[in-house]
Amino acid sequence: MSTQKFSTQALHAGHNTKLNGGTRAVPIYQTSSYVFNDSDHAADLFSLAKPGFIYTRLNNPTNDILEQRLAAIEGGIGAVVTASGTAAINTALLTLLRAGDHIVASSSLYGGTYNLLKNTLPRFGITTTFVDPQNPQNFTKAAKENTRVFFAESLGNPKLDVLDLKAISKEAKAYKVPFIVDNTVATPYLLNPIEHGADIVIHSLTKYINGNGTTLGGVIIDAGKFDWSSGKFPEFTEPSPGYHGLVYHDVLQESAFIAKVRIEGLRDHGAALSPYNAFQIIQGLETLKVRIKEHSKNALELAKWLKEQPEVKWVNYPGLEDNKYYDLAKQYLPEGQSGLVTFGVEGGYEDAKKIADETQIFSLLANIGDTKSLIIHPASTTHQQLTEEEQATTGVTQDLIRLSVGLEDIEDLKSDLKGVFTKLKKRDLV
Ligand SMILES: *Cc1c(COP(=O)(O)O)cnc(C)c1O
Repeated sequence: MSTQKFSTQALHAGHNTKLNGGTRAVPIYQTSSYVFNDSDHAADLFSLAKPGFIYTRLNNPTNDILEQRLAAIEGGIGAVVTASGTAAINTALLTLLRAGDHIVASSSLYGGTYNLLKNTLPRFGITTTFVDPQNPQNFTKAAKENTRVFFAESLGNPKLDVLDLKAISKEAKAYKVPFIVDNTVATPYLLNPIEHGADIVIHSLTKYINGNGTTLGGVIIDAGKFDWSSGKFPEFTEPSPGYHGLVYHDVLQESAFIAKVRIEGLRDHGAALSPYNAFQIIQGLETLKVRIKEHSKNALELAKWLKEQPEVKWVNYPGLEDNKYYDLAKQYLPEGQSGLVTFGVEGGYEDAKKIADETQIFSLLANIGDTKSLIIHPASTTHQQLTEEEQATTGVTQDLIRLSVGLEDIEDLKSDLKGVFTKLKKRDLV
């Protein structure tokens, strides 16, 4: 594996300029299919005897470069890009699991993931027990004989809880199940979960990696370290009828999982990334380091400022010294704690909604990780479908406002919020 550092890999990994016509920028290969030399060549590609491109639902030269780059910066052996972050989670889980299997997941999850695990996968016989991840042993305590995956977010959205990845990896290892970590909010610049024992890393590329709110994408990255041969994963140790009897573990060894994600997951579920979107995401990834440092700096300063405002009841940002997760943040996110800040106001649900309605620079929308600042009131929007109890376990209180702090001038961001606080106060007086 390359010894190059993050900044270099984010710009160069996977792109051989000589093989790509001398192009300095990664070209967009906007093609659905690839001409075979002859039928024997085609047969070799289909049987995996030779590497090569077959059809863009499975692989594409632009996507391939993005995959190599993401695998390099996360320290994985391989990656598969998908149409969205949600597609990455779904494709990873459906590659591993079958009806009757069970997941233990952190309760502090992105709303869409929570819904997938809680409501949609059970329709296919895959159930989930949600646990408080702050006690790593909770994962093992909730595990059953049919448990096949531990799943968590390294920095929970929107709870902003920092996970003790090392401790949870240990539990997963002892239970012989892979530990899947959604590293979207932390980003690969601030944190590499594989270094701390994660087996599979997922990102929504839609957020900080693309970084400017234009493009959806996702990725599954394989550490290549998990032992699939324990007997718990017949998908990898028994002949696959969907691939002419291939036994993934025997033939593909450490790349069994990521190969199966591509040749069965993408083939059968079809959530391929458009090469045009891969190109956009590559542009974003090139500047991830400089952006995420600035997002983190702005977020920390805004969090400190919010704490001083009389209208603000509480502020949550793992970079604040009195934060519950500060010690874990120092250990796992020493270079910055990313761009999300949450806070609550005295007026609860109604006032939180009003604040989200009234800001001028912060846009009211359901996204994070844009260069522009964003605001949302999760209880009435992204987490509306959840019961109040479920909202509480995912960290969403009625008064919680989530900010995705952008790259604007910090003084303008403070003025924007201050203006709204003042307006609300005046309204209360009349
Ligand atoms: C947005 C998000 C997702 C889903 O990604 P999409 O690209 O929107 O499908 C998954 N996990 C986290 C933590 C997210 O923030």
